Amino acid sequence: MRANVPFSFEVYPPRKPELQDALHHTIQKLADAGPEFITVTYGANGSSRDSSLECVSYIRQNTAIDPLAHLTCVGTSRAEAEVLVREFYGAGIRSFLALRGDAPAGATADADFLGELKSAAELVALIRQVSPYARIAVAAFPQGHPEDSEPGRDLLALRAKQDAGADFAITQLFFEPNEYLDFVARARAAGITIPIIPGIMPVISASRLARIVDITGLETPQSLAAALNDAGDKDAQREIGLDHAVALTRAVVAGGAPGVHLYAFNEHDVVLEVLSRAGIISA
Ligand code: FAD
Repeated sequence: MRANVPFSFEVYPPRKPELQDALHHTIQKLADAGPEFITVTYGANGSSRDSSLECVSYIRQNTAIDPLAHLTCVGTSRAEAEVLVREFYGAGIRSFLALRGDAPAGATADADFLGELKSAAELVALIRQVSPYARIAVAAFPQGHPEDSEPGRDLLALRAKQDAGADFAITQLFFEPNEYLDFVARARAAGITIPIIPGIMPVISASRLARIVDITGLETPQSLAAALNDAGDKDAQREIGLDHAVALTRAVVAGGAPGVHLYAFNEHDVVLEVLSRAGIISA
């Protein structure tokens, strides 16, 4: 394993107020490992606006780690998006993951659900305008984006985000190293030069895999699904998920990934174990 592989984590704001203390504990444990940043998700249409802001503010005020706030622009006017960015900026946040956000359930015609900002690239430009020195990340999709009408559209979108001022990209989760490595090669051929950090989610149960596939629209990884389904109990499934995530981490780093971003699911033990077994942090 390469020395000094940068790593980062994603958490989501607590779904209920009584889960906040547990999340703060998890954040402290993640911060102790020394990540580059911890990202906090944002519910499209502002559903988690207050709790996301509370969470990034907690990280900023109580750890030495830079919080990186996800923000979405779907369904908002330009003025509303600017107020949102200024609100996070005013709380001291200087790192963002600029996203368009998903269509609300039931939306059909694409233009119907979009607001004034039609793509994440436009949100990148807005953040750059409000905060010229911000660190701005964007999303990238190794399997393409589910809404893409033709292959390669996702690369046009990523190129547009780079041209608007994005500093780096974080990928949607994927299950095989070559999905990421081939995607990076295609991106480079399309003139995309920003770092592309692989997003890795340890899939420690068959039910979690089913939920992820449902939410993301990714293809089910058949061999991983079979292994999880055949495993007897929870512990055996956890071990399979850990092994898979460790092998994936090692392979993408060996293939040249500039770091790894782990989807923590608001639990510290699994992602820290992945990094430890992959030789990125000491046990
Ligand atoms: P865009 O880059 O705007 O792309 C949307 C669609 O339009 C794609 O099909 C794209 O190919 C097409 N497109 C855009 N611009 C162009 C162009 N110039 N040329 C051709 N095609 C174009 N969602 C949340 O609601 N909250 C979160 O916190 C959140 N976090 C995420 C974190 C990561 C790492 C990732 C990978 C996704 C996350 N998402 C989150 C999901 C994301 O909001 C959805 O996938 C959304 O549908 C697309 O967002 P985007 O930023 O990629 O949009």
